[in-house]
Amino acid sequence: MVKITVVGSGASGVHFALSALKKGHQVEMLDVGYSAPPNVNPEFSFVDIKSKLEDPVAYFLGKNYETVVSPDFDKEIYEFPPNKMYIFKVPPGFKSDSRNFDPLFSFARGGLAEAWTGGSYPFNDQDLALFPFNYEILKPYYEEIAERIGLIGDRDDISRFFPWHENLLPPLELDENSKIILEKYQKRRKLLNRKGFYLGRSRIATLSVDKGDRKACDYSGRCLWGCPSDSLYVPSLTLAECQKYEHFSYKPGVLVEYFKVNSRKRITHLVFQDLTLQKRGEIKVDNLVLAAGTLSSSKIFLDSVYRQTGKILKLEGLMDNRQILVPFLNLSLMGKSYNPESYVYHQLAVGFECEKTSNYIHGQITTLKTALIHPVTLQMPLDFKTSTYLTRNLHSALGVINLNFCDTRRADNQVTIEPDSTGKQDQTTLKITYQSIPDEKAIMSSATKRVMKFLRKLGSIAPPMMIHSRPMGASVHYSGTLPMSTTDGPLGVTPDCRSRDFDNLFFVDGTIFPFLPAKNLTFTMMANAARVADKVF
Ligand SMILES: Cc1cc2nc3c(=O)[nH]c(=O)nc-3n(C[C@H](O)[C@H](O)[C@H](O)COP(=O)(O)OP(=O)(O)OC[C@H]3O[C@@H](n4cnc5c(N)ncnc54)[C@H](O)[C@@H]3O)c2cc1C
Ligand code: SF4
Repeated sequence: MVKITVVGSGASGVHFALSALKKGHQVEMLDVGYSAPPNVNPEFSFVDIKSKLEDPVAYFLGKNYETVVSPDFDKEIYEFPPNKMYIFKVPPGFKSDSRNFDPLFSFARGGLAEAWTGGSYPFNDQDLALFPFNYEILKPYYEEIAERIGLIGDRDDISRFFPWHENLLPPLELDENSKIILEKYQKRRKLLNRKGFYLGRSRIATLSVDKGDRKACDYSGRCLWGCPSDSLYVPSLTLAECQKYEHFSYKPGVLVEYFKVNSRKRITHLVFQDLTLQKRGEIKVDNLVLAAGTLSSSKIFLDSVYRQTGKILKLEGLMDNRQILVPFLNLSLMGKSYNPESYVYHQLAVGFECEKTSNYIHGQITTLKTALIHPVTLQMPLDFKTSTYLTRNLHSALGVINLNFCDTRRADNQVTIEPDSTGKQDQTTLKITYQSIPDEKAIMSSATKRVMKFLRKLGSIAPPMMIHSRPMGASVHYSGTLPMSTTDGPLGVTPDCRSRDFDNLFFVDGTIFPFLPAKNLTFTMMANAARVADKVF
């Protein structure tokens, strides 16, 4: 039995831990681990919440209306609901500063994916070209993770981009808007395929059949506020599974600061702030696995080197997917009513290759059902009365394609640390800098024009003034700061994700990606974490 210390209970940490536990190892998990408020009236549907809750306005918008979004095209156009704010709470003592990048951190039990939308797509060999292994190596781990989280998928046109693997569940019922889009696509698919467009079901981590204590989705329409029946997968469910193992211990309420190293470059101790007792603590470590999220794991690594040597390193190659939101109007649904008893997030995905880049572009199509509509109303360049009238009548016809573009590791995109002005090693600020590729605008403009044409063929229009390029950092697919490679050298990891700088240190979150394809990365991160637990320990 090997003793392993894991930092972080996000998607990567919990799946690493579960695989290690299944192999009989002893796992201790340290985490800040802010926990979720209880789910309000789990038996209620979205409509019940609106009509039966004592104060539904506070539930949806916050006691002081803090989640109302005012229009600002340079910022995000929606806000997280009040009951999910705990996910993004930052502990005292953690400081960051960024340029051209709006980072989101999570110190929650389960991490960022407690707020995710569940899009889970395996990388194919083209996506993995710069990784030190191919799809066949990852396939059994994708299958294992699909089995653990419950993953919906279909064999359709879009699966040409996502390799087929076992343990996929049958799809959910489509909402009306998505159904019309898919039917129209099927009628025109030969033409659209000739133009390079493929449409099909998105792969989503949601149950269409019961699984243990988790129930199949019953279309309550509450996804955005946290699924009350655990149909939509979140990492805290896997953490609860880990907690059933005798040789697992979970220590929340600690902010890990740095590790200590001996003269043989082996990590001996981990130093943390106990957030409850408000004092520093230290534990002995045999094997350390950092799964604190790319930015936080990078900070722990940088702070540790700084403490040990006085050197301030720069980690190059930070990546994130640029995302563009293309809102559209399905003309055949204008003036019709919408069904609130629907699954809220994306159910369709679109894939195409852009002539400006040889890389695949990935889109998820979310139609508007129970999500709050005030951000849409406020974006309209009309007076409030007209905008409200229009939004009501257009509600069921509205949808958005979230286009994702790949990213590459580039030297300009860095994370480093800055000591406080007194020069004390006590607290540092994480500094993040990001520069987009020079021809990004041309690539995005060409891709959005093609998507607008594609939508027209499907009977929908995308008003150009509503197209929104999300700020860099918004996709929350951070990766690339300590990449995997087969070549030796510092500031990277081996193909088994062992640090090339410290022998008993491993990274299993996004830090180790050598390339970021347009597809959402978390499914691959979880599969890779399970692979490392299986191969190394
Ligand atoms: C709204 C939203 C939608 C998303 N949708 C998708 C999607 O559809 N598909 C997809 O693939 N991805 C999606 N993502 C991204 C996905 O959530 C992340 O890729 C994933 O959660 C990252 O997991 P992680 O293991 O790297 O750690 P994180 O989720 O970043 O969690 C970090 C963990 O480490 C702990 N921690 C951090 N620092 C310390 C420290 N110093 N000491 C102790 N503990 C620490 C935290 O408490 C937390 O438990 C979405 C994200 C958001 C916010
Ligand atoms: S996944 Fe969404 S629609 Fe389905 S049961 Fe959960 S909250 Fe309701």
